[in-house]
Amino acid sequence: MSLPLGNLPDTRYPDPRVERLDPRFAYKQGNAAIERIATGFRWAEGPVYFRDGGFLVFSDIPNNRMMRWLEDDGHLSVFRAPSNYTNGNTRDREGRLISCEHDARRVTRTELDGRITVLIDRFEGKPLNAPNDVVVSSDGAVWFTDPGYGIDGPYEGHKAEAELPRNVYRLDPSSGTASVVADTFVRPNGLCFSPDERLIYVVDSGISHGGPAQIRRFDVDGARLRNERIFADDFAPGMTDGLRTDVDGNVWCSMGWADPAEDGVRCYAPDGDLIGKVHLPEGCANLCFGGRKKDRLFMCASTSVYALYLNARGAMTP
Ligand code: MG
Repeated sequence: MSLPLGNLPDTRYPDPRVERLDPRFAYKQGNAAIERIATGFRWAEGPVYFRDGGFLVFSDIPNNRMMRWLEDDGHLSVFRAPSNYTNGNTRDREGRLISCEHDARRVTRTELDGRITVLIDRFEGKPLNAPNDVVVSSDGAVWFTDPGYGIDGPYEGHKAEAELPRNVYRLDPSSGTASVVADTFVRPNGLCFSPDERLIYVVDSGISHGGPAQIRRFDVDGARLRNERIFADDFAPGMTDGLRTDVDGNVWCSMGWADPAEDGVRCYAPDGDLIGKVHLPEGCANLCFGGRKKDRLFMCASTSVYALYLNARGAMTP
């Protein structure tokens, strides 16, 4: 049995690395600190928490593996290897793991008996680029982004030419029908719904390829998205990648790639105001809420995974 790494060496309460920028950021626990719970990865991504099992699954993309961290005793083990350079993960409403595989250029579902079902690997006869991140709505639809970082080169997949625009898709798994729901992104990346699913937030990490660094918000109208607008665009020269909402509708998003003082996680109020920051010693790619009470934020940050108890509860965690 391995024990959790525990708090960072300079921990003291209240943790000064959890920064309140606005009175609305009432989510800081005074006697909770940022913990580095696991380290030794090349690029940690795609965290998803299993409340029924009490463990976190996440991707270590360049190592072509997925990891599992047990919350009870901090034991870390390989969940799946090779993982086809899996990036984003989530669970559907039946608790099944949904994964975006860079190298196989597909979205898969891991059935409860362990079999893997390919949900989609082509659109209009052409291979997907390399799906990045995914979320499932309460009607069972699978919404995912296809920016194609996994075909930029061998480190996160393999080199290939994109044959499709870098779109956001909605897939109905029961019919197998997919549709493009957004085609205005340079590199669509993380995505999540508001707690009532009337809004969806989608990251454009296109700054990596000469585009913007933004979170955009749409109204969800059944199987369509309407009324696209910019929700936050104060990330450049850094960028955000993954995001989740809490039950109050705040948007928690990753931050990294530029100023080390900005590395970590940001919290935006539903009106788009930046109200809080969680400062990490590494740039962060993605995050999720978890823990038995959904009040623990798990952050995949470059070579490590960090955790922080908050006075906030995640929305949409199965
Ligand atoms: Mg991503």
